[in-house]
Amino acid sequence: MNQFLIKPKVQFGANALDFISQMSAHHAFIVTDRAMVKFGLADEVTRRLTQSGIAFSIYDDVEPDPDISAIVKGMKIMDKQYPDVVIALGGGSVIDAAKAVIYSLWHTKKDVNRVKPQFIAIPTTSGTGSEVTSFSVIKSQSEKLVLVDEFMLPDVAILDPALVKSVPASITADTGMDVLCHALEAYVSRTASDFSDALAEKAVQLVFGHLIDCYRDGSNLVAREKMHNASCIAGMAFTNASLGITHSLAHALGGVFHIPHGRANALLMAQVVAFNADLEGRCDNEAAKRYAHLAKNLNLPASTIREGVESLIMAINVLKDEMNMPKGIQATGTNEFDFNARLGEMVGQALRDSCTPTNPRDVSKVQLEMLYRQSF
Ligand code: NAD
Repeated sequence: MNQFLIKPKVQFGANALDFISQMSAHHAFIVTDRAMVKFGLADEVTRRLTQSGIAFSIYDDVEPDPDISAIVKGMKIMDKQYPDVVIALGGGSVIDAAKAVIYSLWHTKKDVNRVKPQFIAIPTTSGTGSEVTSFSVIKSQSEKLVLVDEFMLPDVAILDPALVKSVPASITADTGMDVLCHALEAYVSRTASDFSDALAEKAVQLVFGHLIDCYRDGSNLVAREKMHNASCIAGMAFTNASLGITHSLAHALGGVFHIPHGRANALLMAQVVAFNADLEGRCDNEAAKRYAHLAKNLNLPASTIREGVESLIMAINVLKDEMNMPKGIQATGTNEFDFNARLGEMVGQALRDSCTPTNPRDVSKVQLEMLYRQSF
């Protein structure tokens, strides 16, 4: 028996944030980071809450790639407030932190009076799709742990393109490649379905159609809206179909060497596509056929499966080059000696990552190590 779940109501497009002005609640607890306060995005939310007569408090101590201490701190503050609505305003780091705080608080407290608050996720990057996923990625020391529970799914996702205008070009590139990786990995996942395929195909087209415009001109609201939608659509695909070893390798790499999540995916993605498609071998497995199908959809040369896979890999690399992304792990400033010293640890983490079992091709420790070396 299979299941496909889409939980949150999605408010999207220009002025989607006005949804806040129409809410009724007593007390909103806003989880965010300092950049949201600095760029005035938190004000956009609090102004609308004030218009609706809703009191609010703010927890803005979330850092990129949040760790357990940020969750414990958030729990302590939220615990005293009994909010009836929680608003996560930020990138994947903030939304994941809010998810983990809500989950931990409502699963550790045995308080019958505690009603789960309405949970509203407002992404300010177009990348993780966390606003529609049942995942939360939290760091414990240098390991990124993926929590999975439908309890963490937001009730409402607000996709307002005006909130992503301020994302700098390099973060636009990183997060945009994250969207592409979600769509590609969901599409070839062992648990892909007709439902997730439709979403993944659309997300791939939106990324190749609009990411470069967002990178070149962050104020292009048409392109920003398309990428914001792509991120959410890819999220709907992978929360159901799961992911693959690009993510497993990226979680470990990002956790150990502090490389932003989307950039880590971008560094590994083309090598993983070649590996999954068995490009060095027969290149006729199901994953290869699926990559070739995506290439055909993008009007890339794909008269044979192999040509389609090669075209897709080339298109990924061209997109990265056009956005001046680092060509290898070394180009991110990672020292070769440190890389070799931590390789075994990263391979171990990648092997036990929750994204590995759904990768289309079985992978061994040796092959994971090879993929890291190829990407260095
Ligand atoms: P992020 O949330 O870490 O944000 C990156 C940087 O961009 C931060 O400094 C942030 O302050 C800044 N920023 C965010 N919005 C901005 C805006 N509008 N203007 C200017 N600056 C802005 O980056 P992310 O890629 O969105 O999230 C990455 C995290 O999400 C990682 O921990 C990753 O593992 C996790 N993740 C979660 C899921 C999921 O399903 N839950 C999926 C993929 C990744």
